[in-house]
Amino acid sequence: MRTIQAYRFALDLTPGQERAVNAHVGAARVAHNWALARVKAVMDQRAAERSYGVPDELLTPSLPWSLAGLRKAWNAAKAEAAPWWGEVSKEAFNTGLDALARGLKNWADSRKGGRAGRPVGFPRFKSRRRATPSVRFTTGAVRVEPDRRHVVLPRLGRLKLHESARKLARRVDNGTAGIMSATVRRDGGRWHVSFTVEVQRAERQPARPGSVVGVDVGIKHLAVLSTGELVDNPRHLVAAQARLRALGRACSRKSGPDRRTGRRPSNRWQRASNRLGRAHARVANLRRDGLHKLTTRLAHEHGSIVVEDLNVAGMLRNRRLARHIADAGFAEIRRQLAYKTGWNGGRLLVADRWYPSSKTCSGCGAVKAKLALREREYECEACGLVIDRDRNAARNLAALAAEFNNTAESGSVTARGADQKTRARGQVAVKREPGTASAGKTGTVPTARRGNRSCAH
Ligand SMILES: [Zn+2]
Repeated sequence: MRTIQAYRFALDLTPGQERAVNAHVGAARVAHNWALARVKAVMDQRAAERSYGVPDELLTPSLPWSLAGLRKAWNAAKAEAAPWWGEVSKEAFNTGLDALARGLKNWADSRKGGRAGRPVGFPRFKSRRRATPSVRFTTGAVRVEPDRRHVVLPRLGRLKLHESARKLARRVDNGTAGIMSATVRRDGGRWHVSFTVEVQRAERQPARPGSVVGVDVGIKHLAVLSTGELVDNPRHLVAAQARLRALGRACSRKSGPDRRTGRRPSNRWQRASNRLGRAHARVANLRRDGLHKLTTRLAHEHGSIVVEDLNVAGMLRNRRLARHIADAGFAEIRRQLAYKTGWNGGRLLVADRWYPSSKTCSGCGAVKAKLALREREYECEACGLVIDRDRNAARNLAALAAEFNNTAESGSVTARGADQKTRARGQVAVKREPGTASAGKTGTVPTARRGNRSCAH
């Protein structure tokens, strides 16, 4: 099975190397902003000409928005726009132009309605202070050194890793992985290199292929399994909250940036802000580690995993639940289970959003009309079963897998106890989540969010 995966390692850069990386990051920004300014100027020029009634064929020719087109324009102008262009790798400029080409395409698609999700705005100029510093190398010498403690990148040369790259190096050595690109990015107060790798994964079988486990993702516990196991919620964020608050206060006492007055942040604010960013990054790392351990274990062991289709975006709008839900990383659990079941030869089943997993009795199948969130015990009026609420839900989810098996070929499945809404909307109670994500969608590292979190201002 071929997958695209990311391998990310922390870097230990010398001050000189950090300067070189920053020069590349700056070059990417310069190329991006130059090309964006050019694109805007041409658009404005054409709009003005049109307003004077100039026929379409006589308008200033429009700039192609493809990466190749932007690169051609940049190469023609770089001697003037950036006389120092020879000092950095051409990949740096390519990074900025590629980001712009993709931004323009997303904007155009979004305007034509060909893109799911929220409307995408027109690309904006990148600022040194706001943008996450990053540069990507797609060609040239990109490799892990035999000692597995260093990597080699074009122009930047040999960089020391903070950790061993043995997991990637082993795969490259035995020919099951090919490095496609490397991105150097500042993330959570530290530089990382992230390799995009095409990996040939061996076919695997879960330890117990016939086993079914229902997973109820909760707030009190990270997960409750239908086997009765409670997986504790690490709640690292709660533990670290006092420290985050203290660091946030320290930040707000210092002189931060002010866009209204154009005030620059003080050095002390900058340091306090970096400390806060590192604390946030640590919380995120701990959380990610806990989730990966849980999902790896489940995917290794069980043939079928059943989860609920939670409306995470809707739940995040509920502000009191929001922080804890975000902390537990619901959506992340499901994303990881989807690709890990694919890697391990298992399958992930997702119960319909309207399937009443909490309200159904796992003993007799009776469905309650109402169940308040504070009722932690499920008590069945029909058969007298008393069971922990989350455990009840997990058992219902596991039972759903059996029904899916029975009717797998006939198509539509109506879950036991599925309510009116389900039928009226014509939804299928169980939908199959293909575990194998398509290339580019799977990975061990989630795409980095904004790296440097800074104080609110
Ligand atoms: Zn019952």
